[in-house]
Amino acid sequence: MSEHWAVIGAGMAGLAAARRLSDAGRSVTVFDKSRGLGGRMATRRAGGFRFDHGAQYFTARSPRFVALVENLMAGGLVARWGEDHVGVPGMSAPARVLAPQATIVTDITVSSLTRGTHGWSVSTTEGLVATDGNGAFSGIVVAVPAPQAVPLLISAGCTWDGAARATYAPCWALMLGFPARTTLSEGRLRPDDSTIAWIARDSSKPGRDASGDAIVVHATPAWSREHLEATPEWAAAALQARFRELTGETADPSFSAVHRWRYALVEQPAGETFFWDPSARLGACGDWCIGPRVEAAFDSGDSLAGAIIGLNAAR
Ligand SMILES: Cc1cc2nc3c(=O)[nH]c(=O)nc-3n(C[C@H](O)[C@H](O)[C@H](O)COP(=O)(O)OP(=O)(O)OC[C@H]3O[C@@H](n4cnc5c(N)ncnc54)[C@H](O)[C@@H]3O)c2cc1C
Repeated sequence: MSEHWAVIGAGMAGLAAARRLSDAGRSVTVFDKSRGLGGRMATRRAGGFRFDHGAQYFTARSPRFVALVENLMAGGLVARWGEDHVGVPGMSAPARVLAPQATIVTDITVSSLTRGTHGWSVSTTEGLVATDGNGAFSGIVVAVPAPQAVPLLISAGCTWDGAARATYAPCWALMLGFPARTTLSEGRLRPDDSTIAWIARDSSKPGRDASGDAIVVHATPAWSREHLEATPEWAAAALQARFRELTGETADPSFSAVHRWRYALVEQPAGETFFWDPSARLGACGDWCIGPRVEAAFDSGDSLAGAIIGLNAAR
């Protein structure tokens, strides 16, 4: 019978691991606490607009990621935005096709991982998740941000200094929808400002509706940290006021919302590509192993799966 692996987290790292394990003939079940896939490669459809409120674009430099991105471009799910790449019609689009053979279980917040005589079990605070193979998983891949990975690793009886060392900057993201084009001419702006780090006209990305403007504003790490516990209403008003001051835009948006990313961009990475305990058959991966990029998340998850396959091949 083929091995059955559980992957916790359906962001780029988890899906990259699931993809490579599936390609090597393993059964894979991916668990995620959200309804959608892609993690911080996120797209929100609201008010008639589409916002990439997490990752804005990504680079593709390492050979295996370049090969994947070329494949996705051929399928129309990724396109160039200047020198960089974006998902089409939104940043979350590639996630849906990354691991087509894997079983995906969403809306499940995993709280503990335990190993019994038949294999690994995945549980929430309400108990064992009712899904095929649970209780007999051959191994586990933890692919969630480091602060969320640490308690899962502890529940599994593993500790790794790298996960405890890794830190993230938070980010408040403001989404503004304008039914008509704004006066902004640039697709992206990086103001030299203590409040706002980034302004993107998402409607300037390929494959988007460009009849109006969907604008995403990211606060700086310092501002986001200082106001981490502010109410969404306060953060939205403060960021919108600063956006107006910086851009001179006077039109009122027909849609406005904020999202707080508590773990947005890796500040201090673990400094190793992945964590892997071959005797426990448990690994961990994510951007936090390498650095604050979609590509780093891919490299981490893909390399961990390569190590898992290599271990079995060596037996
Ligand atoms: C505001 C912002 C801007 C960014 N800009 C860029 C950019 O321009 N370019 C770039 O390359 N990168 C950017 N990034 C970083 C990039 O998004 C990440 O590096 C990458 O997407 C991380 O992928 P990951 O798989 O490691 O983690 P994630 O995408 O965070 O995936 C982890 C998944 O685990 C799930 N999860 C967490 N805990 C549990 C649990 N207990 N049980 C089940 N599921 C769980 C989450 O729901 C999530 O889906 C940005 C990120 C943010 C937030």
